[in-house]
Amino acid sequence: MAHQARKRFGQHFLTDEGVIDAIVRGIDPRRDDKMIEIGPGLSALTGPLLNALDHLTVVEIDRDLAARLRSSHSPKRLTVIEQDALTVDFSALGNGLRIVGNLPYNISSPLLFHLMSSAEQVRDQHFMLQREVIDRMVAQPSSADYGRLSVMLQSRYRMVKLFDVDPESFDPPPRVVSAVVRMVPLPETRHKPASAKAFEQVVARAFAQRRKMLRRGLADWTPSIDWDALGIPATARAEELSVEQFILLTDHLLDKGVLAG
Ligand code: SAM
Repeated sequence: MAHQARKRFGQHFLTDEGVIDAIVRGIDPRRDDKMIEIGPGLSALTGPLLNALDHLTVVEIDRDLAARLRSSHSPKRLTVIEQDALTVDFSALGNGLRIVGNLPYNISSPLLFHLMSSAEQVRDQHFMLQREVIDRMVAQPSSADYGRLSVMLQSRYRMVKLFDVDPESFDPPPRVVSAVVRMVPLPETRHKPASAKAFEQVVARAFAQRRKMLRRGLADWTPSIDWDALGIPATARAEELSVEQFILLTDHLLDKGVLAG
């Protein structure tokens, strides 16, 4: 029976063979990869991925689609986790994970943040998302798209936008242009803030008023900040600070005892 696309699950199924092929080539699956696909839907990517892999795990929230997947693939080749991806503990699924998916756009930011907590066990991630979200993910300082999402994700991943995908490549077509991004976790040796929680707090607070000078936006912390020692102009705005400078600022605030770890 034909599946009726469900809006609440952000269902837009890929139908363009050229795009499917380009995504699978971008992922470059190898037989013994430990791959997890989020939101397999009607198997547009699942089928070609399974052709290249010994085994694939999928996470699908829609009960009918999960049942279809179980009936059309052997459990030896395909493990179906019927669950909301936001509640899946990906770190429990192994090491060296490769995570892929044409994600439901309505939960893309929360899902990207949720996956950050498992980044140590991830080799890479390839996602199709709204192009506007990917532009924000990869944006550089002093550009209009640079913000909390850019800083938080760039502190943990190296990211490359691969290509755009037109709405006509889906059924039903979404209202926006999509794009594909590759995310590779940065190594353990990366420069990290002394406290991930404090870093999150500083970045969120700084971008709450992105156009204000930081010294005004961070008003109650400002008397403790030695801008010269940080090498950050006292007149800087959040959108002008690099990821590295956000890390330095966080550690400075921790050192001064303004923030707790
Ligand atoms: N991969 C398929 C394709 O490319 O044609 C489907 C992509 S569709 C944009 C998103 C898929 O994610 C749907 O199958 C939908 O049911 C599923 N989905 C939506 N919300 C989800 C969630 N919270 N957890 C897991 N899967 C979800």
